[in-house]
Amino acid sequence: MFDNLTDKLDKAFHILKGHGKITDVNVADTLKEVRRALLDADVNFKIAKDFTTRVKEKAIGSDVLTTLQPGQLMVKIVKDELTELMGGETAGVNLSGTPSVILMSGLQGSGKTTFSGKLANFLKTKKGKKPLLVACDIYRPAAINQLHVVGDQIGVEVYSEPENKNAVEIAQNAIKHAKANGFNVVIVDTAGRLAVDEQMMNEIANVHAAIQPHETLFVVDSMTGQDAVNTAKAFNDRLNFDGVVLTKLDGDTRGGAAISIKSVVNKPIKFIGTGEKMEAIDVFHPSRMADRILGMGDVVSLVERAQEQYDEEEARKLQKKIAKNEFGFDDFLTQIQQIKKMGNMKDLVGMIPGAGKALKDVEIEDDAFKHIEAIIHSMTPAERSKPSIIDGKRKTRIAKGSGTKVEQVNQLMKQFDQMSKMMKMMQGGAGKNMMRMMGG
Ligand code: GDP
Repeated sequence: MFDNLTDKLDKAFHILKGHGKITDVNVADTLKEVRRALLDADVNFKIAKDFTTRVKEKAIGSDVLTTLQPGQLMVKIVKDELTELMGGETAGVNLSGTPSVILMSGLQGSGKTTFSGKLANFLKTKKGKKPLLVACDIYRPAAINQLHVVGDQIGVEVYSEPENKNAVEIAQNAIKHAKANGFNVVIVDTAGRLAVDEQMMNEIANVHAAIQPHETLFVVDSMTGQDAVNTAKAFNDRLNFDGVVLTKLDGDTRGGAAISIKSVVNKPIKFIGTGEKMEAIDVFHPSRMADRILGMGDVVSLVERAQEQYDEEEARKLQKKIAKNEFGFDDFLTQIQQIKKMGNMKDLVGMIPGAGKALKDVEIEDDAFKHIEAIIHSMTPAERSKPSIIDGKRKTRIAKGSGTKVEQVNQLMKQFDQMSKMMKMMQGGAGKNMMRMMGG
């Protein structure tokens, strides 16, 4: 995420390295580079200029009051200002209605339908809600089908009236249906166009006026940079929406939309989309995003994701297995699946402070576990639960079955062996001994 911007900002801060003090000259040099980095990231010119002006005032003013090195001071000020620019606080969604009605708006292809599904899934699994999805696209039957596919995938009912060509009516009927059937959130997916046009705007404005949603979200593709900001402005002028959803932040996004949008429409970014899967949704936290832009990782989100996947019951079962020396490849596979649920590898690595930079030129496969999984799937159940029976002949067969090389099978066996030993050690004797040695 934002690799280029992160890199350029880092270079800008380097100018201050070795300087004992912040001066007009070294600040000006640094900020010139910061501004260039922001412009390259497709941040609006005026926003970039105002930004560096504010940073400069703060830097010159606070230099005497701190023990930080000039470089560190600058990073801190830029971080604070970036956080402010992206909205400061984390903004929530209004779920006060019975049902709460959420209207989705945005251009075709922005990721509206996908996000409607993600949000329904998020509210269902994380907030214990009973959402209803509503297909209000009266032009493209494929869009209605797409929402049904999404709904099936996450186990959420989808309301549609394929024959009805009146979007207002469909939305109103859907809300009635929700009331009658105990749904407490209604997410209305509307028709989008490839570009802003009057007819589309009128239609969504009519739906908006008729159903008076508790929350209107504007969905925008972050890859479109400045255009994203312009589209946001056009929609906001008509709908006065409540929040922005930035999608496709997993791609090769430059960052301009994330940084500029709040100050242009004065509405907070509430969610981000980071992939095509239904789980690839995150609440937007300005401060954490600023950390990521500055290459400082996002440990808080990483830990949260790990906690979400943590299942106490499963953990206890696993502990017992380790203690009894019964940890096998099936358990290993379960562990891998849990890690995969946390998100795509590139995204996870980006959350580790410093790792993004260190691994900048390393190609991280999104499916980093593909070979490992293939190898394990080619083992027989007996081999998986008792890896020690895997001899040379079996290894050859497993490699063939999984389309890998014997060396790869060997490597996995070795890793597995080391991991089992380490887990045993942490559980049993060594861990306790160490505690005792340390006076525990
Ligand atoms: P709509 O026309 O606005 O409803 O857009 P769709 O939901 O159909 O999304 C358009 C395309 O973008 C689809 O291929 C989605 O899979 C993809 N997409 C949506 N959100 C994301 C995201 O956060 N990341 C990535 N990589 N792709 C996304």
